[in-house]
Formats: sequence, C-alpha cells, structure tokens
Amino acid sequence: MNIKFVGVPTKLLVLIVSTLLLLAVGFSSLSYWRLQADYQEFQQNNIVQGQVQVNLHNSILRTKITVWLESFTDLIQLSQQDDFSNLALQLEKQYDALQLHLNVEDIWLVDEKQNILFATNDFPAVVQDNIAQVFRLQEPEHRIYCPQSCQLLLSLPLLNKQGDMVVVTMSTSLVDMLFALKTTLDRDVAVIRIPANGEINSSSAKVISASNMRLTESLLAMNKPDSALNQVLAQGLHLDLEKNSYLINLLTLSEQDKQGFYLALIDDVTAYKAKNDAYQKRFILSLSLIFSLLAAFVYFISSPFTKRLLLLSNALPLLAQKKFDQFRQVDLKRPRMFADELDVLAHSSEELSFELEQLNLVVEQKTKELENIAMYDLLTGLPNRNMLNYQLRKSLANIARHKSGVAVLFLDLDDFKKVNDSNGHNIGDKLLIQAAERVRVSVGELDLASRFGGDEFVIVLSHLNSVDDAIEVAEKVLLQFKESIKLGSNIFYVSTSIGIAYTESATEKSDDLISHADIAMYEAKDNGGGQYHIYHQEMFQRVAHRVMLEGEVRQALAKQQFSLSLQPQICAKTKKLYGFEALLRWQHPERGMISPEDFIPILENSQHMIELGYWIIRRCFELVISIKEYGLENIRIAINLSAGQFMDANLPHFLNDLLVEFSLTAKNFELELTEQTLVKDMDHTIAMMESLKVIGFSFAIDDFGTGYSSLAYLKKMPVDVIKIDKSFIFGMLENHSDFQIITSTIAMVKNLGLTVVAEGVETQAQLRSLTENDCDIIQGYYYSKPIPEKDLFTMLDKQTTKGYWKVAKKIEPDLSTGKSA
Ligand code: C2E
Ligand code: CA
Ligand code: CA
Repeated sequence: MNIKFVGVPTKLLVLIVSTLLLLAVGFSSLSYWRLQADYQEFQQNNIVQGQVQVNLHNSILRTKITVWLESFTDLIQLSQQDDFSNLALQLEKQYDALQLHLNVEDIWLVDEKQNILFATNDFPAVVQDNIAQVFRLQEPEHRIYCPQSCQLLLSLPLLNKQGDMVVVTMSTSLVDMLFALKTTLDRDVAVIRIPANGEINSSSAKVISASNMRLTESLLAMNKPDSALNQVLAQGLHLDLEKNSYLINLLTLSEQDKQGFYLALIDDVTAYKAKNDAYQKRFILSLSLIFSLLAAFVYFISSPFTKRLLLLSNALPLLAQKKFDQFRQVDLKRPRMFADELDVLAHSSEELSFELEQLNLVVEQKTKELENIAMYDLLTGLPNRNMLNYQLRKSLANIARHKSGVAVLFLDLDDFKKVNDSNGHNIGDKLLIQAAERVRVSVGELDLASRFGGDEFVIVLSHLNSVDDAIEVAEKVLLQFKESIKLGSNIFYVSTSIGIAYTESATEKSDDLISHADIAMYEAKDNGGGQYHIYHQEMFQRVAHRVMLEGEVRQALAKQQFSLSLQPQICAKTKKLYGFEALLRWQHPERGMISPEDFIPILENSQHMIELGYWIIRRCFELVISIKEYGLENIRIAINLSAGQFMDANLPHFLNDLLVEFSLTAKNFELELTEQTLVKDMDHTIAMMESLKVIGFSFAIDDFGTGYSSLAYLKKMPVDVIKIDKSFIFGMLENHSDFQIITSTIAMVKNLGLTVVAEGVETQAQLRSLTENDCDIIQGYYYSKPIPEKDLFTMLDKQTTKGYWKVAKKIEPDLSTGKSA
C-alpha cells in the first residue's frame, strides 16, 4: 500500500506553528508600536527639555543684563539726572566690561524722539522695531536676532528725573548659551540656518555654530532623505553615523526673511537603539526557540502514535491474507495505564481477527461442503456431472501429450423406472446406490465413474490403446450387473445398456463425446438392453434423421398431411366383410407419399408418435361413425398401436372418453400390438390390456411368428386375434416350413379359442389353402389393397353387396403406398 499522506504530527505542527506565528506577529507589532511610542515620547521629552533649557538660559541672560542695568542706573543716579548724557557716557565707559562679563556685543541708547544717544554699531531695523515696541508698551522687550550668528536682543526702558524715557538695547551672543545648554542637557547642540521648506542636509542647511561642529556637519552630510523641515520639527530626525545612532530635534530660535534659525539638539541614541535591537533580537530568538521546542514536543508526542497507526495499517492486510496468527503477533498493545484510542483500535482489530478467523473456518467448511455438493452426487457419492465435465475435459486435453485414446461409457439401467414405480423411490434409491457401487468397482483407480443423473452413469477411461480397452471395461460392468441385487427380502435383476464413444482426437468436445455415447446407449437399449454398443457415424445420422422427422411430423399433423387407408378383412368361409385395418398414410408435400414403415419405426417411443397415435385413433372413431352411417353396423376397425402409445398411461382414459364422445362401443375396435411391443414390458402390457379389455376392446397380435411369440405368454394375455405375418403367407405354397408354421399356428390359436387372421394374401391359391386350413379371416391384396379413406365408400359400393365381398379381381399395385405387390 503506497498511499501518500501528510502525517498527523505534521498537520498538528503546521496548526500550532501558524497559531504561534499569528500570536508572534500580534505581539511583535504590539511591542513595535510600544517601542515607537516610547521613542516618540523620548523625542518629545527631548524637545520639551531643550525648550525649557533654552528659555531658562534665555531668561538667565536677560535677568543678568536687567540686574546689571538696574544696579548700573542706580549707581549713576539716573533718577536724579535731567538728561541721559551721563548715561550714554557711562555706558560707553562700561562697554568693555559688558563685553567681557556679559558677552554684550552691541549697545544702543535711543530717546523718545528716536535720537541715538549712544550706539556701538549700526542701527538695524530689528533693533529699531524692538525699541519702538518698548516705547509703545513701556516695558522691556526681547527677541533672538540672527544677522550672522544668533544674538539675544534685549531692550529696557529707563527714566530720568524729568520722567523722560530712553530705551537701552543690548545684544548678547548666544554662543555661551549654546555651551551652557550642552553642559546642562549633556548633549551636543548647534544653531542651524535652514531656508523655509528646506531640508536638513548639507546643501540647504548651514551650521551657524555648534558644540561639536565635526559631528554636526557629518550628520548633515549624510543627506538623509525624508528630512523635510516640517517633518523634522514634528518628529525629529534619526541618523546612523558610523556605529552610532543620533536623533536630531530642532527648536525654532528665529524666523526671518524666509530663513529659519534653529537650535539642533543632537542626541546620541546608540545605547537606546542598541537596547531596542537587543530586545527585538531576544524576542525573535525566544520565538524561534519556542517554535522549535514545540515542534520537537509535537513530534515526540505524536510520532509513536503515528508509528503505531502505521504498524496497524501495515498489519491489516494480513487479515485479508487470512494470516490471523501473524496479525496477532504484531505488537500493538501498550501498558494499560497509558492506553489511548489506538489501543482501543488495536484491541478491536484483535477481536476482529478472531471473529474473522472463525468466520473463515466456517466459510472454508461450507465451501468444502459446497464443493462436494458441486462435484459429487449426494445419493451415490460418485462424482457428479460437474466433476465429469471437468475430468473429461482434462482427459481430452491430455490426449495429445499421451498419444492415447479416451472413451466415454454411457450407462442406463434397463427398466429402472419400473422398479421405481412398483417398489417406491426408497427402494429405487437403494438400488441406485448398489448399481453405483457396481459401476465404481468396474473401473480402475485412474478412471472416473460418475452419476450422470437418474439411473444414468458415465464412465471416463483415459490412456487407452484402442477401443478394445473400453469394451473390456463395458463387459466388466455388464458382468457386475449379472449378479442379482438383494434389498431386504426383494431380489432384483437389473441390467444396463452401455453406449461407448471412443476418440483419439484431442479436438473432440467433451459434450459431443458424451452425446455420442448416449446415442450408442439408446441403440443398445433398442436392441433389448443388457448390452453395449459402440458409437459410429451412422448412429448419429439416424438420430439426426429422427430429430428431423419428429419436427416434420409435428408440422404434418398441423397441416393435415396425414390420412388413413383402410384394408378390408374378409371372413374366409362366408366372404362377409369382417372389418378394416387402418393404415397410416403421409402425403408429404415434397417427398410424396411416405410409407409408414419409413417413419413409424424411427419415431417409435417419441412423444410425436404418441400424439400422432391419438390422432389416428380419433380418425378411426370418425370412420366407424361414417361406416355405420353407410349401413355396415357391426364393422370392426383394427388400429395399430405403437409400443410408446401402449406404454402411455393416458391411453385408457383417452379411449374411454372417445367412446363416450362418439357413443360407440369398444366392440367396433380391435387394437393391434406387435410381438415387440408385448415383450418390451410384459407386466405393464398385460395390465394395460386387461384394463382396456374391461372396457370391451379386443386385441390382435400383429406380425405373429416374427418375434418371440410363444404359447406360454399368449396364454397369459387377454388376446383375441392372432395375425400371421405376411412373410409366412407369401411363401406358404413354395416353402414347406412356412406352410408348417401357418398350419400349426392356426391349430394352436384355434385351440386357445382365438381368431386367426392371415395378412398379405395375394393369390387365390393362398386363399384356398388358408381356408382349407381353417383360417378365419383373410386380409391382402387378393381382396383389396388399403383403400384411401376418401375412396372407401365408392369402393365398398363397387366391391360389396349387403356386407359381403364380391368376386376377387386381378391384383393391381397398392396405389396408397406406391408399392407393387
Ligand atoms: P402391418 O400392421 O403389418 O400392416 C400390414 C401391411 O401389409 C401394410 O403395409 C399393408 O399395405 C401391407 N399389405 C397388406 N396386404 C398385402 C399384400 O397382399 N401384399 C403385400 N405385399 N402387402 C400387403 P403398410 O400400410 O405399408 O404398413 C406398414 C406397417 O406400418 C404396418 O404393418 C404397421 O406396422 C405400420 N403401420 C401402418 N399404419 C399404422 C398405424 O396407423 N399405426 C401404427 N402404429 N403403425 C402403422
Ligand atoms: Ca397391422
Ligand atoms: Ca402385420
């Protein structure tokens, strides 16, 4: 079994891993957001912190100057002076000190009329604007002003004794503040000029001053994309330089003329970033570790399960191969404590194996029984037809190899039906068993004796040198059956008819060989039974001819091709018309008139002959009616009955029914039986004759002298008429022994009180001799050939007067059969 599959552990693994992956993605994005937020917060803090520091230093600077100026004005007693000339003078004097201590770069002293009372430098518009603001609001004003470098511009109002106001404005460099900031914030700072909408890179940004110029310029030189001013103002700018990471945040110092001055706070976030990276690494590492551990765990948990499952599925085919023991030896069980579904399955399959084994035993036993039934006959224990066919085919196939002959002996017990009918089936069965035993002992060990069905047995003989070997066996069988069979108090003499079919041809069909033997067996039976016949080609032709005839007879009946001819029987002494013998005629459309001798003997015993026989009898009844109507009252018609007809149990009923139907007495009919019919089954014949005799029918023995007729059985039978066969009559005047037979027969028959008919009487001399010898009735061409029924009454008109035959005329050929006398 090579089915591809994805194992349960793999599926479990995939399931778990995908779940974990989802969780991991969820967690890592959460932590990433968290990190981002932290970073943002860190950056905002930076800005706020920077702003606070800038404001702080700014105000410190302002306070310093303000304090200095206040103490300075006090010192020079400005409030007691009428003008500001002294102030201007004193300021000029203090300028160097201011420059030195307070980093003051320039001083402007301006009165209300915008007169510059003292100035160390030009009077730029920014300063003018700042001063104007002070005059207007009358309070100090400051701003950051970056002409080249950035400065804090502080304007303060001052009053004299008159209450006039001047504004003193001082500008101080922010460089110091930058360094102060660097110290307090512990990070590098720089003042950068960036055009509005510019970018923080080397081309558009200019470093005005920086606590670490090299670093600042290197960072700007990186020209990082996405460094637009607005974005950097809001989020800062992250830069990686060499091994360090930096965050640049901008604080607006001053915006003028489309230029902005910004304080850049440069944070070294290397450590911070390293921490972050480490955190991420740890996260991924632990995640993969968990994955691998889980995978291993799933594998270790499920692989034994899979192994056992595969073991079981590999073992299952053993059940189909009926290797139950081997199946049970496969170790599928585990300690009870850790049992799982697989153990339940293993247990069930073990149970199943036991049940299947049991079932298999039953099936095997039943199969054997069935084989026996299929191959052996239940009653006799002999091989049956199936076995016969099988063995025969085998033997025929071996002919070519062994260069030898094969024979089939078809046996049929003679008169077995009689035993069965009179002694019952029980005895019949016992007899069959005995017969089977006799057949069995007659054949060698390598030969096959089988029961074919009913009382038929078939023997197959192989490796024969010639047909003589088969004959030898047939004779052995016949010898076996010579012994009587004793069953209880009954003793049976059972003979058998054997047909032998022999072949040396390997192409012979087994069915053909059997049917040939069957044909030969019928031949043996027809010849009186208790003998064997060897099949030859003509037998087959005979059978084929019979089969064809049977078909034709059936059709002929339907097409009314049959008719009867009636041959008169006349009292030898009185010439009175005694009756007629009804003789069958077949007007075949192609073959013309067919003699009954050409088909009746062939169809003897066949169902068609019986059917035809009944048609003849009915026709005879109709003819008796016509003859009576013609005026001949006590006429008797002789009907020839075939052996088969006489064996038919239905005959008495049929005749009885006809008597009733036609309102006739049986006295009008004489039934002719041949000696062969009589001897075929003596007991049955006598019984049948007696039952018909009771109704009133009389019997004639036809063709007397040709068969086994003997006085002994004539005495036993209710016979009325003896018909001396025409072969005796023909030569009676020439052949003395024929004459002797005739005269002694007549004497004997008369002695028994029976009537004698001589048939085939053709000459007046024969007639005279027979009359002289006391023969009762004459039938023959001398008086009349058989008359076709349609001509009967014209013929009677011509030949009879008041029931007496006129003088005989010259003999003519029998037109009704086409035969000449
Ligand atoms: P069978 O019963 O011995 O009939 C007498 C045969 O002798 C008839 O031949 C008849 O035509 C012929 N025959 C009569 N007189 C003379 C004669 O003077 N000279 C010669 N040469 N022959 C004479 P057929 O009609 O050909 O019948 C032949 C046989 O066919 C009959 O012999 C009988 O055994 C059988 N048969 C005829 N009709 C029937 C029938 O209806 N039923 C049965 N079962 N057999 C019949
Ligand atoms: Ca006859
Ligand atoms: Ca006859």
